[in-house]
Amino acid sequence: MFKAGYISLVGKPNVGKSTLMNTLLKEKVSSVTPKPQTTRHQILGILNLPDVQAIFIDTPGLMARQKDKLDERMVGKARSAIMDSDISLLMVEPYEKEIISDFFKRENTILAINKIDKISKPDLLPLIEYYNNLDLFLKIIPISAKKGINCDSLLFEIISLLPLHPPFYDTDILSTHPERFFVEEIIKEKIFLCYGDEIPYDTAVVVEEFKEREDGKDYIRAIIYVNRTSQKGILIGKKGEALKRIGERARKEIEAFHNKPVYLELIVKEKRDWRKKDKILNEFGY
Ligand code: GDP
Ligand code: MG
Repeated sequence: MFKAGYISLVGKPNVGKSTLMNTLLKEKVSSVTPKPQTTRHQILGILNLPDVQAIFIDTPGLMARQKDKLDERMVGKARSAIMDSDISLLMVEPYEKEIISDFFKRENTILAINKIDKISKPDLLPLIEYYNNLDLFLKIIPISAKKGINCDSLLFEIISLLPLHPPFYDTDILSTHPERFFVEEIIKEKIFLCYGDEIPYDTAVVVEEFKEREDGKDYIRAIIYVNRTSQKGILIGKKGEALKRIGERARKEIEAFHNKPVYLELIVKEKRDWRKKDKILNEFGY
């Protein structure tokens, strides 16, 4: 009597989708930063329990307005994740009134009101009432993904809705992405954390080489692509100080994840208007 299925995590940028996935999986699979659009890919996170396999798809945020080709691709990915999943988990922040509901089916959509640690108890009931009156959701569950409040009840509801099915993946894996994907995500996260709005948005990270070495540190070379020449200088900083700081932070986390010391080389290159060019987006794997 095994249960298995796909759950898409959907919602506006910054509502806490990646945080929830990490909380449910008890591991850091998805990057979390205070800035929107940290997540550009679909990230598969797999929760294996004795007779359940819950496969979470963390999606890039659903944006109402799409400014360029990368934005369009990201919304396309979120939409296809909803279509392909057994359960849609829509996340909102407490006072979000404008719900993007176009692609959801009431029968299999759970609404999670996240960040309830930020509101007072008496405000919660009317809020649930408001969303309930929209009649769009099968279940409404208030949670705090960051503090872990009510996440167990949410997981219980998810499991009860999963269909009977044998596992889709080996029951000992946490994700299907290769290690170099996580290395790219870690570097990108550090860039998001270290710079203002423009640089992270215009940056893409590609691991060009990942060499395991028996007799020393593993070697990783990653290219950080920027949109304009001026951004190159900002990223590198005076005497390379800024880039060094990113490299150090990223390396520590990569080593913890990889369980082995690594030599991380970061190279900054310019690819003009990469967010607008299909050919380059394909190359970068978006
Ligand atoms: P995503 O864009 O939807 O994947 O959002 P993230 O998971 O990257 O989170 C965006 C920001 O919201 C981060 O700064 C998180 O720490 C914060 N956050 C996530 N969940 C909660 C929560 O339950 N309470 C509070 N106060 N902050 C949260
Ligand atoms: Mg995210």
